[in-house]
Amino acid sequence: MEVTSITNGIIIDHVDAGMALTVLHYLKVDPATTKLALIMNADSHALGAKDIIKLEDVEDLNLDALGFIAPHATVNIVRGGEIVEKAKPELPQHLVGVITCKNPRCVTTSETGLEQRFHLANAERREYRCDYCDEEAER
Ligand SMILES: [Zn+2]
Repeated sequence: MEVTSITNGIIIDHVDAGMALTVLHYLKVDPATTKLALIMNADSHALGAKDIIKLEDVEDLNLDALGFIAPHATVNIVRGGEIVEKAKPELPQHLVGVITCKNPRCVTTSETGLEQRFHLANAERREYRCDYCDEEAER
């Protein structure tokens, strides 16, 4: 399989198998308006199976959610058909406007306009908790 096939954009590799659509959702990528290719359940030496997401003509992407949702992912920046940069997502200290609190009694569910804010509570367990009510984030 070719490494790229896009000219300019982002390739997110080593996404856990079956998670590609969830990743798109969390990254707020709209499949209806974005040139993208998904490869799902590709063979992977490291993971057994993996998903790959190729996004053409996408430069600005908030990748904070990746560390949360796809911790094994590799981000490849492609320019002119070549990978010019590789990065591993980090676990951000704060996730703002990425996930929503599932606690029905949380102030963010009753008050509109409040930003959804989570903080990294335990890096080892990749555990995020709501800034307002301390509810653990669900993936
Ligand atoms: Zn909350």
